[in-house]
Amino acid sequence: MFITVEGPEGAGKTTIINMLANRLEAEGFQVLQTREPGGIEIAEQIRGVILDKNNTKMDPRTEALLYAAARRQHLVEKVKPALEKGYVLLCDRFIDSSLAYQGYARGLGIEEVFSINSFAIEGMMPKLTLYFDIEPEAGLERINQHKGREVNRLDLEKLDFHHKVREGYLKLMELYPDRIYKIDASRPVEDVYKQAEAKLKEVLEG
Ligand code: C5P
Ligand code: MG
Repeated sequence: MFITVEGPEGAGKTTIINMLANRLEAEGFQVLQTREPGGIEIAEQIRGVILDKNNTKMDPRTEALLYAAARRQHLVEKVKPALEKGYVLLCDRFIDSSLAYQGYARGLGIEEVFSINSFAIEGMMPKLTLYFDIEPEAGLERINQHKGREVNRLDLEKLDFHHKVREGYLKLMELYPDRIYKIDASRPVEDVYKQAEAKLKEVLEG
């Protein structure tokens, strides 16, 4: 089953994905964790280009196309094979990141960005998307406390951009009410984990 996790930086996505994967494995599920952009060699290389803080000339459409290209390769090499083998695939970011960041926050348009991505994914949408909702100020505060994390090009964006990203995600929830489930990520880790686990179990068992 294809599950994606979405939300801004500092929402705790990676931490909770690790916890969910451990839990499901202990219960006997075959689980695979992965992330976007990246997850396989070619896509990690593309990630390097997109996030390089020296690439200040990157055009927003180029950026959107690169994310879609990385997504395509990751889907073919990793997502599809794992789903065919019956894995529960937990993916840190997927199409909704492109729709919220490039489509909405950068102003390219949700529909336009959806259309290049639909070429890339050929209808392969997640069954469930856990959206980790947090105020940008709180998310950024958490990142600043996380020492040793390398600065990327997106870290140079102003707070206003991060507010737009959140607005974008909230719009996507209206567009996809059955697929996207909102989690209050401002809560302590244990509580965020419980919200995510409960929804995931419901969908896995349903
Ligand atoms: O979640 P992760 O740390 O892997 O994301 C890397 C960076 O890429 C983050 O700064 C995130 O905000 C940004 N990003 C983006 N547009 C996407 C996906 C990620 O700007 N479609
Ligand atoms: Mg993360």
